[in-house]
Amino acid sequence: MKKVIFLDRDGVINKYPGHFKYVTSQKEFKFLRGSKNAISRLSKAGYKLFIVSNQAGVSKGLYSQEILDKMTGDMLKEIRKQGGKIEKVLYCVHQESENCGCRKPKTGLIKKALKLVKGKVDIENSFFIGDSIRDVKTGKSAGCKTILVLSGRESADNMKEWEAQPDFIAKNLSRAADIILNK
Ligand SMILES: [Mg+2]
Ligand SMILES: [Zn+2]
Repeated sequence: MKKVIFLDRDGVINKYPGHFKYVTSQKEFKFLRGSKNAISRLSKAGYKLFIVSNQAGVSKGLYSQEILDKMTGDMLKEIRKQGGKIEKVLYCVHQESENCGCRKPKTGLIKKALKLVKGKVDIENSFFIGDSIRDVKTGKSAGCKTILVLSGRESADNMKEWEAQPDFIAKNLSRAADIILNK
């Protein structure tokens, strides 16, 4: 069976832009240290990787779909250069008020991703890695193991207030990869 890893983008792969803020240009997209290498290691271990990200800034008019697509193209190019492979990048560009089925913590994008995997997926041994409790909720709803990384939105100081508890907590994507690969 195939094992899948869902990755949130901002605060996991690239620098967290801040509360209620967005990465609005290619210039603002900055890879976090070690994230490309972690993606490469997970790809080489046979995991199918997907990026699943809320980008409501598009529907808010803060950046265009075209800019987002260019950002995605650049990101994938850099990831490939380091030997990583992303099956697909899936975005929800809607606002909460639109009540779509794809905005995390809903699992619409995960369902979409799973349809793209050939063969059966071992969802219980698949992972969702994100920097927010919303990501943890999404992963739990989908039946995955969850890893919260502390390289973005959340800090361990807030643990008592978390509405969902992750299976693992890691400093960053590199450490999350260590957990998954048992290193
Ligand atoms: Mg994030
Ligand atoms: Zn949506």
